[in-house]
Amino acid sequence: MAASEPYDLVIQYGRVVTASDTVEADVAVTGGKIAAIGHGLQGREYLDARGLLVLPGGVDPHVHLQYPQGPNRVVSADDWLTGTVAAACGGTTTVIDFVEARPGQTWMQAFEARRDQAAAQAVIDFSFHMSFNRADAASLAEVKTVLEAGMSSFKIYMAYDGIRLTDAEMLLALEAVAEHDALAIVHAENHAVIMRLVERQLAAGHVEPRWHPHTRPAAGEAEATERALALAEIAGASMHIVHVTAERGLEAIRRSRARGLPVTGEVCTQHLLLTDALYDKEGFEPAKVCMAPPLRKPSDLAAMWAGLRDGGLDFVVTDHCPFTYAQKSGRRRSPEFRKLPGGTVQTDPEAPWSEGLPSFNQIPGGGPGIETRMPLVYHHGVNAGRLSLSDFVNLTSTAAARLYRLYPRKGTIAPGADADLVLFDPDREVTITADALHQNVDYTPYEAMTVKGWPRTVLSRGEVIVREEAFVGTIGRGSYLSRP
Ligand SMILES: [Zn+2]
Repeated sequence: MAASEPYDLVIQYGRVVTASDTVEADVAVTGGKIAAIGHGLQGREYLDARGLLVLPGGVDPHVHLQYPQGPNRVVSADDWLTGTVAAACGGTTTVIDFVEARPGQTWMQAFEARRDQAAAQAVIDFSFHMSFNRADAASLAEVKTVLEAGMSSFKIYMAYDGIRLTDAEMLLALEAVAEHDALAIVHAENHAVIMRLVERQLAAGHVEPRWHPHTRPAAGEAEATERALALAEIAGASMHIVHVTAERGLEAIRRSRARGLPVTGEVCTQHLLLTDALYDKEGFEPAKVCMAPPLRKPSDLAAMWAGLRDGGLDFVVTDHCPFTYAQKSGRRRSPEFRKLPGGTVQTDPEAPWSEGLPSFNQIPGGGPGIETRMPLVYHHGVNAGRLSLSDFVNLTSTAAARLYRLYPRKGTIAPGADADLVLFDPDREVTITADALHQNVDYTPYEAMTVKGWPRTVLSRGEVIVREEAFVGTIGRGSYLSRP
């Protein structure tokens, strides 16, 4: 570009933060990409970022939008529109979700359907992990095609009937992953132990949601983590452990890394901030925090923060998989309302999926978090003195972009990168309420918590999609990101 030609847009007077440093500078955007960082840059348009931090857009590589979960196929309440609007309003501009083939469907058929579903509605860029939910010859033969379609990470579940792999199958899967230089990402829990403990609680008449955490012990997660890491070592595969919650599991990751093995781990916001005391609430209320792994003890939370600081854990995700209270209660398969950018609409009544309240093991698992991740980690990380600004950027954006081969297109502010940017107000105080959030769910586990620091304006590929906290983007503008 000629020196005299102005850039499309210049973001002026902000504090630009990356995973490596913080500088006072203007950021110029042209053609949806970052064109320059400097002073006195000329633009056709300007955004004033005085007093604001200019951050790379958040990357949340663990979300479940519009996901028909379990045998009852209760669909997670955020679809590709409401979920990505919520993400954008919370400062996240890239999500990675999952493809899970049903019986009779090839992995690639499942991918194409899921990609088209997302592309029609998503307002930010998205990508997928392929669920390695069977290890038969046909699926193993599909691994190469899946990689060529841009999914270089494969999810393996050690728990959940229908999608989990046995150790023998997991070894085959990991060998295929290793052969193609891909990444295995693993949900590590001990399936047999969970099944036995569930059976025991139900037999004792313990059906309420408060019993859920008693069936998914931290030691079972740690055991499965160690087993997964051993299998990865045998197969020579790179492995990422999703939603680490227990100190013992983290220790296993640290030991593997100390031995030089290609192992990484993540933690969810809820496992940094919420304890298992929430299961002591009255009646069916704890259903809202029925998720796997469950919330843990304060000592585990402290261990997770320590892991983020010393590099034992690589980044923070949400595992966003919300269900409305009616869905958790068995009264609905799909959410009963849809929070659209223009207002909430009620959806058609439909038959319940459960007669009466479901027992704890039948409750759809998961919770909301896609919109509150960045402010919560900022507040409890940076404001609390646990993380530097660069740590915050690394843990919410850069590190995940790197692991999942999106970097340097995503996860940084540098010439040539996509202009996914967050103008973050470090002084804005917000008391979180479900009503004010865009997430399509009627509660948040962070209700009434106050945080200082909130995204004000968000750009995706140079386009302002959130302006002064209001969503102003267009439906379906998000693109599929191929990750070679
Ligand atoms: Zn998940």
